Amino acid sequence: MAPTTPPFSDEHEQLRQSIRGFIARELAPHAQRWEDERWFPDDVFPRLAAQGLLGLKYPERYGGQGGDYLHEAVMCEEMARTGSGGTAAGIGAHINIATPPIFKFGSEEQKQRYLVPAIRGELIGALGITEPGAGSDVAAITTRAEHVDGGWVVNGEKTYITNGVRSHFIVTAVKTTQDGGHHGISFLIVDRGEGVQSSKLEKMGWHASDTATISFQDVFVPEQNLLGELHEGFKLIMANFQWERLAMALGAVGAMALAWERTAAFANERQAFGRPLSGHQAIRHKLADLATSVYTCRCTTYDALRRFIAGEEPLKEVTMAKLLTQRASFELMDACLQIHGGAGYMREYWVERAARDARLGPIGGGSDEIMREILARML
Ligand SMILES: Cc1cc2nc3c(=O)[nH]c(=O)nc-3n(C[C@H](O)[C@H](O)[C@H](O)COP(=O)(O)OP(=O)(O)OC[C@H]3O[C@@H](n4cnc5c(N)ncnc54)[C@H](O)[C@@H]3O)c2cc1C
Repeated sequence: MAPTTPPFSDEHEQLRQSIRGFIARELAPHAQRWEDERWFPDDVFPRLAAQGLLGLKYPERYGGQGGDYLHEAVMCEEMARTGSGGTAAGIGAHINIATPPIFKFGSEEQKQRYLVPAIRGELIGALGITEPGAGSDVAAITTRAEHVDGGWVVNGEKTYITNGVRSHFIVTAVKTTQDGGHHGISFLIVDRGEGVQSSKLEKMGWHASDTATISFQDVFVPEQNLLGELHEGFKLIMANFQWERLAMALGAVGAMALAWERTAAFANERQAFGRPLSGHQAIRHKLADLATSVYTCRCTTYDALRRFIAGEEPLKEVTMAKLLTQRASFELMDACLQIHGGAGYMREYWVERAARDARLGPIGGGSDEIMREILARML
């Protein structure tokens, strides 16, 4: 077993080996096919659940493993080994952004109705915040919920939603006052049903995931599906951003480490001008730079993680980790692709996909510009 790096302990390393084994046996061999088919099968969810992997951080009374965010952090890093950004994204959306608000803000009845079956992999979740006219500017959403007898009627459109086609429920941000904004947004758990229509989007990477536009047309949502406090949904959005961004940073660190290992092996094997590529100083030095980038990203991310676990509110450190790792990951994938030469441009090589998949990082979950804006205001 590899030596542990704080904040991880031997227990986490054992979990890491077990997740790595499961991914190598059950997910990675299918990555290429799922990407080609633009879909990974829904039964991946119950199969992960059978290993306890959809509920690592949730209490046993809800069917979870009784662990914490450090156990989940191991999962976030290891998911990169699936080799399909789309598969990792679909699973990640379920465990990192759709279910945490239900655990944190949901009533006991909502937890029984959504969280418990989600941990079992029987229900798949999505988080619906972004709209065609509101992405970075979250407070500008216009999807509205009119209060009626016994619940709400929802009208509007969400877009770029991960699990947007397959999800059984969508944790949806809606405007519940005329003006919306910071004290006029609420969250409803919307079940897929009458009036909910999804259309899948074609995209540059993450092909195995179903990113979709979801329209809501006169969708009735019962009173008991209000998540958290009325008009205070903005707090709920902010509450999970730190974990979402940390999860993205951890995913990037995992993907970067794997890409480096594979590229170094390729450079040792591939011959040019009578010696391995790694025998040429330009390539050797590039690999040294890339290893430094992996290390720097890991240290920054683990520091933010350690603070997060300790109960600090490490907004600055998490924002820096998200900003640093997402751009660094894309740049590292591009450099790894370059070292592969023409092979790097071919579909049959993992690096072509990894480079496309990594491009989402500086955009999703709060773009580079928004991360800089948060930091600039704080500093
Ligand atoms: C594959 C994929 C999956 C996604 N999954 C989900 C999901 O599951 N749920 C969900 O709700 N959303 C999801 N998103 C949406 C994602 O979070 C948004 O795309 C992202 O927040 C950016 O919003 P936008 O696309 O509307 O860009 P915009 O907000 O329109 O921004 C466009 C550009 O302007 C820049 N910009 C915006 N404001 C400023 C400013 N004040 N100063 C400087 N520059 C600025 C941005 O950084 C960006 O470069 C997903 C997106 C993608 C591509």
